[in-house]
Amino acid sequence: MSQQSNNLNVWWQRLQQPWLKNFPGDESGSTMPRQTPGKLYSITPTQEFDSAHLIHYNKPLAAELGLPQSLGEEFVSILNAQLPSDVQTYATAYSGHQFGQWAGQLGDGRAILLGEITTNDGHAYEWQWKGAGATAYARRADGRAVLRSTIREYLMSEAMHHLGVPTSRALSISLTGENVVRDVMYDGNAAYEKGAMMIRLAESFLRFGHFEFLAAQRDEKLLKDLLDFAIERYFPNIDLQSEKAYVQWFEEVCSRTLDLMVHWQRVGFVHGVMNTDNMSALGLTIDYGPYSMLDDYDLEFTPNTTDLPGKRYKFGAQPAVALWNLNRLANAIALIEKDTQSLESALNNYNDRFWEKFDRTMLHKLGLSGELQEQKVWSRKSQKLLSTQRLDYNLFYTCLGSWKDGMSVKEHFETCMYHEPTEMQLQELKTFIDDWQKQREDDVWSVEHSSKAMAANNPQFVLRNYQLLLCTQQAEKGNFAMFHDLYKALQTPYQSTELSKKYNQKRPDWAIDVVGAGQLSCSS
Ligand code: AMP
Ligand code: MG
Repeated sequence: MSQQSNNLNVWWQRLQQPWLKNFPGDESGSTMPRQTPGKLYSITPTQEFDSAHLIHYNKPLAAELGLPQSLGEEFVSILNAQLPSDVQTYATAYSGHQFGQWAGQLGDGRAILLGEITTNDGHAYEWQWKGAGATAYARRADGRAVLRSTIREYLMSEAMHHLGVPTSRALSISLTGENVVRDVMYDGNAAYEKGAMMIRLAESFLRFGHFEFLAAQRDEKLLKDLLDFAIERYFPNIDLQSEKAYVQWFEEVCSRTLDLMVHWQRVGFVHGVMNTDNMSALGLTIDYGPYSMLDDYDLEFTPNTTDLPGKRYKFGAQPAVALWNLNRLANAIALIEKDTQSLESALNNYNDRFWEKFDRTMLHKLGLSGELQEQKVWSRKSQKLLSTQRLDYNLFYTCLGSWKDGMSVKEHFETCMYHEPTEMQLQELKTFIDDWQKQREDDVWSVEHSSKAMAANNPQFVLRNYQLLLCTQQAEKGNFAMFHDLYKALQTPYQSTELSKKYNQKRPDWAIDVVGAGQLSCSS
């Protein structure tokens, strides 16, 4: 037996499929679109793609997982979703509220699960192909994904990981060899795009929508089974025997979701489709679609044209939407948790706790400790300056971090300005800097400590939509140079490097409203 297949055998032995063991599923193997009440998954084979072609393998992640570093033919076939016939794969059923409305059964329409693999240090990750074929939950869609959206998910999920934001990860990306039709702006201009698939990993892809799916059917038994499973497996700090277990679990989900929202606001990430089916029960960022990092600071900004004109999922609304979504989860759990008062108080605590943590984080971005009473206003002060002057969110903090006395405000902050500043604006900025320096001097933190906090909270590199557009346009033509640059740059987002300087530039004018950067839809 070759070394490669030996390694693979070891790896296969580490594969676990707890869903298949623990829950009822539809075993037919059929991918005909259908409702599966009372079943949490359907056995679903991956599609055969005869000319699939691996284009990227995330070696650092593979090393963490104990996966092969060298790519033999056998392993590449697995990455390309070509599996031995005795390996069963599956898609899960979930529901959700989309744009505020109950959407009934949804489910993994084009995501197919292999199960869980365990890393060298004992952590288990769910392994999922996205774009490897239609499932019973595809409804009228084709189960495919295009290169454009696959690259976007691949790079941004890794970028978020390196930014320190809880997220799903990306292991590999392949062209399927097929062309796929997409009408990007849903305006009758359908065109062919390259089909692609990726492998994404997360501790679990469990969503709020899985619980809603069972609650809607009033399936108390299965809802309880799923909750017990989730707690045992992903929340080992909660004692399942305690009568407060479900309340504690819900409190923990609120807490993780809140932390995630603080992270998103800190780095300027706009998810774009915060439907409850896209909300992770583990507090991870999942389902990267029409997202965007903020360029100019704008609480009203949404990249998702499907979300116009209401802008339900605009940047500034994300924390509140997360709470709305947590309400939907609480409603689902209330079917089996009779202590609804405790669920309610977890929800009632959310706002205070969010603002507390958010304000402290915004102060840390300014290098202020948050320990002094008079500092409290600084979180709002910086946001007001950013929004009235429409400065670039991330570049502003980078500029502030490198500010030195005697510099020209106009020259130093030019890199984060989208308009020629008026004299008044320059004066306002100068006053802000002077006051901020005074705050820093009076703070309990030393200047070194303050600078460290700024460096740890303010990225020097964020993956911008206009760069992603250029990257995907080049990749469509077979040129992956920019993809490799961005992949490299995103791994050290808190360091200033040649690549970060090259790519972390404010959005050029051409990209404001261009399809694929300023304007995105759910078509992917
Ligand atoms: P999203 O809002 O992109 O997370 O997708 C909502 C639902 O539509 C999920 O159930 C997806 O699995 C499904 N879906 C989206 N695009 C496709 C596709 N091309 N094929 C099958 N299902 C899809
Ligand atoms: Mg989704």
